[in-house]
Amino acid sequence: MTTSYRNYIDGHWVAPSSGAMFENRNPARHDDLVGLFARSNREDVERAVDAAQRAFNAWSETPAPQRAEMLFRVGNLLTERKEALAREMTREMGKVLSEARGDIQEAIDMCFLMAGEGRRLFGETTPSELRNKFCMTVRVPVGVVGLITPWNFSMAIPARKAMPALICGNTVVFKPAEDTPLSAVRLVEIFEEAGLPGGVLNMVTGYGPEAGRPLVEHPGVRLLSFTGSTETGRLVALACAEQTKPYSLEMGGKNAIIVLDDADLELALDGAIWCGFGTSGQRCTAASRLLVHQRLLPEFQERFAARAQALRLGDGLLETTDVGPVINQEAIEKIHAYTEIGLRKGAKLVTGGKRATQGDLANGWFYLPTMFTGVKPDMRIAQDEIFGPTVAVLSVDSLDEAIAVVNDSSYGLSASIYTADVNAAFRAMQSIDTGIVYVNAPPIGAEVHLPFGGTKSTGNGHREAGRATLDTFSEWKTLYVDYSGALQRAQIDRAQE
Ligand code: ADP
Repeated sequence: MTTSYRNYIDGHWVAPSSGAMFENRNPARHDDLVGLFARSNREDVERAVDAAQRAFNAWSETPAPQRAEMLFRVGNLLTERKEALAREMTREMGKVLSEARGDIQEAIDMCFLMAGEGRRLFGETTPSELRNKFCMTVRVPVGVVGLITPWNFSMAIPARKAMPALICGNTVVFKPAEDTPLSAVRLVEIFEEAGLPGGVLNMVTGYGPEAGRPLVEHPGVRLLSFTGSTETGRLVALACAEQTKPYSLEMGGKNAIIVLDDADLELALDGAIWCGFGTSGQRCTAASRLLVHQRLLPEFQERFAARAQALRLGDGLLETTDVGPVINQEAIEKIHAYTEIGLRKGAKLVTGGKRATQGDLANGWFYLPTMFTGVKPDMRIAQDEIFGPTVAVLSVDSLDEAIAVVNDSSYGLSASIYTADVNAAFRAMQSIDTGIVYVNAPPIGAEVHLPFGGTKSTGNGHREAGRATLDTFSEWKTLYVDYSGALQRAQIDRAQE
């Protein structure tokens, strides 16, 4: 029997107004139907926003340390259920089980980090330029916030947005990705079980244009936080700009690893394999460009190719699997189109380059780990985000050239450098134009108490996670208290000079 899952609005699980449902299938075994989910439309979004507006006063007036208790409970429940949640996540999204556990762990970490903020949410006090006057700032909630999330981190990214939104006193309408609605349902169920009052967190599942767009456009939504593709991010930005609505965007990346000639080659290979093919390359921080010093290049290429060929594809639930499927057929088509583009432009395909169809793999969306060499920085496979297991190897002659190539990208999320030279490491940290730089570690591995985000087309200046996320999900209110008993005019009434 197929299970049907509904929307969560005002503390109730409700069917979508149209009655329509959509299918969610296991990308490793396409005949495995995970469930049917509410195909929401504008009317459902309006109901959810209404509920969030009604819940706002009570929630925003709840002391932040009490709001935090809710988050602590959610963190504890996620911890208890981590294994079961991870298994379900692998089934609906495909990533191997250890990575799914990591996804849930990131959500747990975010719960506890933001729960701790419930007793901080610090503002500032500062001297006034006038006598007998007091100045301070406090954080206040924005209102109803809309969260639109992608499928690749189906619990971590919703948590990265929902936890700071809630601790700051906002109420939420959440539209998860259509490829991973089950993770979203499970997260919301846990909030319900933790005792979150109805209307504080609402969820509408469904497709982007049908359910996401009305959420972006709803005037009652005072802030929109989006993670997804650059194309959709632009649409979100334009719609929000029309209403002068603040928005935060987390979009693509074309992340690079630099391997200098003094690097620990084994370590660099470990990092490059993990970052190129982990989550089948479907991370915004995946390393799809490897910039290798020409002196190391022949050995690096040979060993990287051998390691890529040895990776075992399969269902992420099996212990024997190194690399799971990609998310859907569209992804296979996009990844393969880039293989053809790479070949047409003269890059050399060393391994991979096609769908994997042997045995059980034919029932899922598997693409072979793919490696191109002889790639030039201006080729599209070195410029566009492919979001699949495709890695481009580029030859560089110097640190300066490597930094220039890293920066020759419209994106600016993450990069890393492998070197034993401390001066080179510091120059890279200084000159690489990305939001995150790693030294002797791959460009994957964000920890939740540090800011996450990028420069250029990766985002719009905001950061998620860390304390920085509070600046997205709260407004500053500036308070002046004049206890002089007289009219004192700033800039005009100065103490006798
Ligand atoms: P991806 O290519 O990673 O699926 P998308 O940007 O298409 O990235 O999807 C990210 C999220 O944005 C998903 O939740 C999706 O439903 C939503 N989305 C897609 N199109 C729109 C749109 N026009 N307006 C609002 N949200 C959208």
